[in-house]
Amino acid sequence: MKPIQMVDLKTQYHNIKPEIDKAVIDVLESSAFIAGKPVQQFAEAFAAYMDVKHVIPCANGTDALQIAMMGLGLQPGDEVITPSFTYIATTEVVALLRLKPVFVEVDAKTFCMDPESLRKAITSKTKAIVPVHLYGHAANMEAIMQIAQEHNLYVIEDNAQATGCDYIYKDGTKKKTGTIGTVGTTSFFPSKNLGCYGDGGAIVTNDDELAVKMRMIANHGQAKRYYHEMVGCNSRLDTLQAAILNIKLPHLDSYIAARRKVADYYDDTFANHPKITTPYRAPYSNHAFHQYTLLLEGVDRNGLVEYLASKQILFSSNLK
Ligand SMILES: *Cc1c(COP(=O)(O)O)cnc(C)c1O
Repeated sequence: MKPIQMVDLKTQYHNIKPEIDKAVIDVLESSAFIAGKPVQQFAEAFAAYMDVKHVIPCANGTDALQIAMMGLGLQPGDEVITPSFTYIATTEVVALLRLKPVFVEVDAKTFCMDPESLRKAITSKTKAIVPVHLYGHAANMEAIMQIAQEHNLYVIEDNAQATGCDYIYKDGTKKKTGTIGTVGTTSFFPSKNLGCYGDGGAIVTNDDELAVKMRMIANHGQAKRYYHEMVGCNSRLDTLQAAILNIKLPHLDSYIAARRKVADYYDDTFANHPKITTPYRAPYSNHAFHQYTLLLEGVDRNGLVEYLASKQILFSSNLK
């Protein structure tokens, strides 16, 4: 039997191999490895997909968070509220910039930031909130934005795991997660919903001024070559990765649809199991299922991982 992998990147590649190979060879032939045409093409295509004004491609999802926080002018000592349950990057950049991370609880059902816990954590030093759309499920953005507006706070959505997820408002309108707050960040790490073949990331925003500033920060603080107006960093999406993303972006919705179909199947299969709770799906989130995460009661978790591995159902250790 064929082993079942958490993310089968090889099969995915083989399904689109002729297009990918051509795109890669075209970049090699052009030799415009940095800032080649596919980078701008991808930025435009991704902006259209996300329905957002500005996309700033960058080197990875961690840099995207850092550039967003630098762009917003956050200063050492400013408090930034993050969920206590997320991937390290969300909080790592807060510490790196000498900002003060303030942890709040996640909702036990969605695993995303709990608005009530958020409300209690706000002080006079709070400057920004970083909701994370964990596992591909949207955080409760209407409640979070309401609190942010009341206290005049920036909202940086860490959308690394939820590219393609729709947030559904109470009135039925939809927006892509990542485009609701002041700024959104994402990752194109190979195993993410939209993954390239190396590291990649992007920042999205509808704020014109902020976009200009973040674009400069991602490029050594310059808008014009050798005119360095501020301290920035070197964070670019390289042309090869952009070319690959240009091929993969049109497939993103069908990849997510396939994940949802499998998730539905698992939900039905586990529905009446006494020890398994399947992922909750809030009415405001069209789950993108970056991961299908079960809650187990009275089960030896590591033993189960070993058992599944013995049946060729694998958890790849080098993937996030
Ligand atoms: C993957 C991930 C990141 C970081 O992305 P990289 O491209 O690996 O730097 C940030 N936040 C979350 C929630 C992630 O899952």
